[in-house]
Amino acid sequence: MIQINENFPKLSDSYLFSEIAKKVNRYKEANPERNIISLGIGDVTQPLAPAVVAAMHKAVEEMGEASTMRGYAPESGYLFLKEAIIRNDFHQRGISLDVDEIFVSDGAKSDTGNIGDVLDAGNTVAITDPVYPVYLDTNAMAGRAGDCHNGRWSRIEYLPAVPENGFIPRIPDRKVDMIYLCYPNNPTGTTLTREQLKHWVDYALENKSLILFDAAYEAFITQEDIPHSIYEIEGATQVAIEFRSFSKTAGFTGVRCGYTVVPKALKAFDKTGKEYALNALWNRRQSTKFNGTAYIVQRAAEAVYSPEGKKQIRQTIDYYMENARIIKEGLNALGYTSYGGVNAPYIWVQTPAGISSWEFFDKLLNEYQIVCTPGVGFGASGEGFVRMTAFGTRDNTIEAIQRMGR
Ligand code: PLP
Repeated sequence: MIQINENFPKLSDSYLFSEIAKKVNRYKEANPERNIISLGIGDVTQPLAPAVVAAMHKAVEEMGEASTMRGYAPESGYLFLKEAIIRNDFHQRGISLDVDEIFVSDGAKSDTGNIGDVLDAGNTVAITDPVYPVYLDTNAMAGRAGDCHNGRWSRIEYLPAVPENGFIPRIPDRKVDMIYLCYPNNPTGTTLTREQLKHWVDYALENKSLILFDAAYEAFITQEDIPHSIYEIEGATQVAIEFRSFSKTAGFTGVRCGYTVVPKALKAFDKTGKEYALNALWNRRQSTKFNGTAYIVQRAAEAVYSPEGKKQIRQTIDYYMENARIIKEGLNALGYTSYGGVNAPYIWVQTPAGISSWEFFDKLLNEYQIVCTPGVGFGASGEGFVRMTAFGTRDNTIEAIQRMGR
């Protein structure tokens, strides 16, 4: 008899965004004349940079010629892209990495989810709360989260990030093996300074833990003292894997490209204490289960680092960050308390006293036709907040804030 992975039924079946979509569709059916503005799902609205589009066209032409067409790509990515990544994202920040420490992929969601393949199901896991749900759900699928009672997983160490601690999660007082950190943070839009991040690297060095550092929103950092990469912290190559994505940086949500850095200095252990390089294990995993990112897509990603590409991408990021400023200042003027929105495209808005995340979601939808994301969907510590994103169009962003002021 075929048996299922019994961790799957433990997951709640309603994923946050499908619940939101259901509510929005119900509202639309009942109010077809109303114009709904979405500040909800973190998807981009601005087109790809012209330099990226040109690179894709050129790559398509190459694929149409026998002499230049490419078949299977190297599983870990073409050298041209890996070199551009290293030069621009790391060397320019004083970080030294080799090309074989970069693994190009179809995005950070797959990699943050798949990384668990090379790690034991018995590892203990710490995640910040609220959190990007993929870390939690993929660990639950692997059986690392234990059982779920009232929305809390028995084997997960939750690290609340709330106004009371300045959104700085506490260092656990017990030993944990895997720690997920996402900075700039989705959903709170907050960041850690170098000093704060160093505490985590020191903890991981001391406890032989692994930090899974998601830097998908690195490009949105505006303040000088905020680290763009965990490898800016001394010792981090011994304890951290870093995930990057072109999705928000360059509007690749529908193109699909990201990369993961697994330094060769990073070691993990078997039950006897024997040491293994995670780089070799991840390489083995990827070459077995992943067949490379499309050539056209990798050429597109390479163009993100061209002089014109950089300029064009900066303009789009600035456009989104201006939206963030409009939302944040608009909400502040209306008397709301909000966080984030300075180094990240997310604004974490405190709901008025006594109103839950979902109640505030309903109020914004029904009274102003604005869609946000209820904070509680990202974890228990997200209750009392909603997330708004800066990825809308300028007109919609302005209109949304004006509606809330009416
Ligand atoms: N990591 C975080 C924190 C995200 O918010 C997202 C997307 O919303 C991703 C990863 C997924 O990125 P990708 O589109 O590269 O899969």
